[in-house]
Amino acid sequence: MRRRGLEVSDATVSSAAIQELRGQLGGEAIVPGDAGYDAARAVWNGYIDRRPRVVARCRGVADVLTSLRFAQAHELLTAVRGGGHNVAGFGTCDGGMVIDLSPMKGARVDPEARTVRAQAGLSWGEFDRETQAFGLATTGGLVTTTGIAGFTLGGGIGWLMRKHGLTIDNLISADVVTADGRLLSASATSHPDLFWAIRGGGGNFGIVTSFEYRLHPVGPVVFGGAVFHPADKAREVLRFFNRWTATLPDEMTPMAAFITAPPLPFIPAALHGTPMLAVAMCYAGPVADGERVAQPMTSFGPPAAAHVGPVPYTMLQGMFDASAPHGIHSYWKTHYVPDLSDAAIDALVGHAAEMRRLSPFTTLHIHHLEGALSRVNPETTAFRHRSPRYAMNIVGLWTAGEQPDPHIAWVRRTFDAVQPFATGAPYLNFLGDEGTDRVRAAYGAATYDRLAEIKARYDPANFFRVNQNIRPAEPARA
Ligand SMILES: Cc1cc2nc3c(=O)[nH]c(=O)nc-3n(C[C@H](O)[C@H](O)[C@H](O)COP(=O)(O)OP(=O)(O)OC[C@H]3O[C@@H](n4cnc5c(N)ncnc54)[C@H](O)[C@@H]3O)c2cc1C
Repeated sequence: MRRRGLEVSDATVSSAAIQELRGQLGGEAIVPGDAGYDAARAVWNGYIDRRPRVVARCRGVADVLTSLRFAQAHELLTAVRGGGHNVAGFGTCDGGMVIDLSPMKGARVDPEARTVRAQAGLSWGEFDRETQAFGLATTGGLVTTTGIAGFTLGGGIGWLMRKHGLTIDNLISADVVTADGRLLSASATSHPDLFWAIRGGGGNFGIVTSFEYRLHPVGPVVFGGAVFHPADKAREVLRFFNRWTATLPDEMTPMAAFITAPPLPFIPAALHGTPMLAVAMCYAGPVADGERVAQPMTSFGPPAAAHVGPVPYTMLQGMFDASAPHGIHSYWKTHYVPDLSDAAIDALVGHAAEMRRLSPFTTLHIHHLEGALSRVNPETTAFRHRSPRYAMNIVGLWTAGEQPDPHIAWVRRTFDAVQPFATGAPYLNFLGDEGTDRVRAAYGAATYDRLAEIKARYDPANFFRVNQNIRPAEPARA
């Protein structure tokens, strides 16, 4: 996914300088030629093939500070990595430095206060393991290997969002290393401008070394799972889905997904490999209530296959893991959709039918939003778009060696077909490398301009620019 004009660092760094860096780091500095280099440069999206000059695998805040100073001293383009799941590959770069926080796995849960201080290298699976030990959770990703860091900085939608808000709505504070090498605690009372900006503004303002989140009693067993309908029933199922979602309490978070039926035991063998519409769900409340609230959807049709019932929350969190393996090649496009009108459904169904010719991994997700996240004043954080009913992610996935063009073309065609029914704004965490206008659209002009002012305060030279970049505002002329 090399966009024309994508920045490549051409700074030279001597072997002696790398040796010196190694002496200063608690973690490793991995360079081309090292045994672990290919693994260290890889991100989740196998379509991204970039070769950084050095990957600094940080063990703590001291390593982050050392790496930052090194990158600045050598004028290296710098990418910051949490879980490496960003589809555009902003967790790596060509020729520059990757500051990789993934070895930073600390988590300290305070069960009485219902909070956790979590280091930025945790994945959601690792995070949930720690918090679920106390029957607690906060809104996290639908795939357990996704990093908490990039995910949180972009907003964070997941199974608990309608009950407990976006991940950022549960953020109490964050430790941030800024471009000038300070470590700041950002919260409602400490650097509130920075705290506002990092809740949706991505990695533009510094390197977050740890996050403090509010936790909620969840599970450990919840009601959830998915029902499956043949794709030729998708039109009527989606129409019903749109009516059903209008009736739901906040505890229920559903998602509709066009998929290819996986060879799982609860799906009849005759349907394996066929196109289907799945409706997945999680009820963040008493299991019996979940069963009752789900009943109209679980009985509609009836479905061709169903796998719903009481399930450990941590297992539900991993429900889609196998559908998104590390290294798969990927290209996404995203829309917010105010409503699933019949015309929007027709457009979707027509294009989803083509998926079967492409790849069994390719999928299209329709997340139902609203609930708690939509009741937060859009001014409170940098996450602006809280009123659309749905967020859509059109996910082209294919394996190494396949031609990318047909997959990318399908994603774009489907995106264009849905455009007339969409708000025009993308969800930042699903956005590819699509340029400044789309980043601006992800925020809206007023929020973008406010972010640009804060960027100018904390990163005037735009050091942190391997991301959905917010350009620093120009200083006002006298
Ligand atoms: C399989 C899969 C499932 C997903 N599911 C969901 C989902 O359910 N809900 C959802 O909202 N999103 C989801 N996403 C999107 C996900 O939120 C984004 O890809 C997010 O960027 C991932 O964060 P990361 O830390 O893994 O990524 P990275 O690629 O490491 O980082 C992403 C961005 O954040 C910046 N960044 C990372 N760490 C830091 C840090 N410590 N300090 C400052 N900046 C940092 C990076 O520079 C980069 O710009 C999913 C993605 C994938 C691939």
